[in-house]
Amino acid sequence: MTPFFKKLRLAYKNPSLAWHKARVTFRNEVTAKGDYHLRDGKARPPMVVAVRLTNLCNMNCKMCGQPKVGDEGVPKSFFADHLSVDEWKRVIDQIARFRPNFYLWGGEPLIYKGIFDLVAYAKARGLTVQINTNALLLEKYAHDVIDSGLDDLIVSVDGPEAVHDDIRCLPGAFAKLRDGIATVRRWQAERNLRKPVIRIRGTIHPDNFAHLQELVATTQDFGGDSLNFNQLWFTSEERGRQYQDVMEKLFGVQATSWRGFVYEANGLPLDSLREALDSLIHNQVDFPITISPWIPDEKLERYYSDLDYTAGAKTCRAIYSKTYLMPNGDVTPCPDYPDFIAGNLRERNLLDIWNGAKYRDFRRQLKRHGLLPICARCCDLYLANVKFM
Ligand code: SF4
Ligand code: SF4
Repeated sequence: MTPFFKKLRLAYKNPSLAWHKARVTFRNEVTAKGDYHLRDGKARPPMVVAVRLTNLCNMNCKMCGQPKVGDEGVPKSFFADHLSVDEWKRVIDQIARFRPNFYLWGGEPLIYKGIFDLVAYAKARGLTVQINTNALLLEKYAHDVIDSGLDDLIVSVDGPEAVHDDIRCLPGAFAKLRDGIATVRRWQAERNLRKPVIRIRGTIHPDNFAHLQELVATTQDFGGDSLNFNQLWFTSEERGRQYQDVMEKLFGVQATSWRGFVYEANGLPLDSLREALDSLIHNQVDFPITISPWIPDEKLERYYSDLDYTAGAKTCRAIYSKTYLMPNGDVTPCPDYPDFIAGNLRERNLLDIWNGAKYRDFRRQLKRHGLLPICARCCDLYLANVKFM
């Protein structure tokens, strides 16, 4: 099946999700460029509102850069302070008019009590809703996934059972996600529903380089609708310190988020990664497989050794189309490096913050100064660089 027909098949399962994705692509490719060049730091309302419901997580994965309970210098409030369901509903009311994608993640979002109340509320207000989960609690909430009207369930899987459990540092993690997905599928079938689309997402990590192809069979076993891979996001100690200096100079911000992403990527066994990517390209399955960013064979070495290499990306369009809301209501432009805070939802409306003085200053400074020293390994730099197979 050609990539075009695979896309069509996926769109049939959830047309509103497909329509939304087309809108996001148009925004990133066309109107965000216009905003970047012409609007002096202002932007049209965000197309993606990504909510980190909680910083708590029930896993401790090898590749995770987020702070964990007990980490030095991380205050307890980082995990305890989060907006209530009613506060999040008020945010949904603020954004419903322009129908963005409402993307729920964490930490682990299923830990947040009331998540499915929010999903149902957002659906009733016409939003497209996604949850990105490690699926440890999925079996428990399988009914709610279906009843809430969720559009898109993204489940992180790193490889076959032993590899996944090893990367996730949790024996039994794979079995739990398998049972969770099976339960969701069973309820879906009983009610004859096409939603939610279930997407398997794997982060490419040195411990699974040699096993990526096996994720195709895993996705088939799970009845997944697509398989997405992300290259590893990481930085170096030197690069992190440069970022810290730039953030201090440009914005007076003490930027520390990079510390969890320090990874020594030189000398990785890239031949096994090349082989795996090559076999993915020649896959014969009838569901889409995507890789982001797509790095050609001859540039893979550079991606993993040269933190200036951006595969041609020169500016960050995401800060004109996506916004990230933290558990305590802080609003930030950057998903994994939430050091710059443009405002707080307990004090101001999201749209006021989105085009407020601080957000505009961030966009203007990035335009003037160029990318930040950590941008080259941030997922949002590569929104337009996705290989679809
Ligand atoms: S499930 Fe996600 S947030 Fe939790 S430890 Fe793993 S990578 Fe980090
Ligand atoms: S690419 Fe840079 S500016 Fe854009 S979201 Fe990522 S860290 Fe922020």
